[in-house]
Amino acid sequence: MALRPYVVGNWKMNGTRAMLAEARAIDRSAQRLMKVEVALAPPFTLIHAVHKEVEEIGVGAQDCHAQGDGAFTGDISAAMAADAGATFTILGHSERRQGHGETDADVLAKAGAALDAGLQLIICCGETESVRDSGNAVQAVTDQLRASLPQTLESASEKLTVAYEPIWAIGTGRTPTVGDVESMHRAIRALLIDRYGETEGGAIRILYGGSVKPENARELLWAAEVGGALVGGASLTAESFMGIVMAA
Ligand code: PGA
Repeated sequence: MALRPYVVGNWKMNGTRAMLAEARAIDRSAQRLMKVEVALAPPFTLIHAVHKEVEEIGVGAQDCHAQGDGAFTGDISAAMAADAGATFTILGHSERRQGHGETDADVLAKAGAALDAGLQLIICCGETESVRDSGNAVQAVTDQLRASLPQTLESASEKLTVAYEPIWAIGTGRTPTVGDVESMHRAIRALLIDRYGETEGGAIRILYGGSVKPENARELLWAAEVGGALVGGASLTAESFMGIVMAA
């Protein structure tokens, strides 16, 4: 059975308790749009507060540590995020890969820890501008995913979402052509079917992310094999975020 389109807001390092009003507003409108699954990934400090404020939408983390617990000053484990109310975590976002040196192996280890804590996964992948220009984007992204995704996963379509986010499109206002999005998503789909089988691999949602706005959401979200969106900047206000959800 096909899953509902999934639109996830990644607040990144934005948001204090003053932003809870936006989360409430997003939740209220999401209650009227049941055909789309909506979720927010606020910073760790707001997970519990957002979780308590909302009824309909999902709440998740933006990252987690690969270990269950221990002497890791400043880090947050998957179990802590789950305890605060998270039901999923984003992993391998390019801002983690680039800004914190996270490798595919790190992402894979974090995925294991997140699954152990009962969290669903949104695993990100995407190419740099120079890789896109060199014509090797599909190869680079599928290599990255092959090394970042768990080898086996029961009920993979319920536990895993993949987000394709070209790095050069994040926060820049630039987006790939619909044709480029579709060929990347088709390549990712083939990989998922290869790894998790026709039924589960065929049903895993593949989100597009990178400068999604209400104005371009319809063409990006209705492209072949696009199962929703991972939204950064435009998820910070209920008005722009719900404009995207409506387009889905
Ligand atoms: P953006 O970010 O929507 O601000 O481009 C997307 C993301 O990084 O998930």
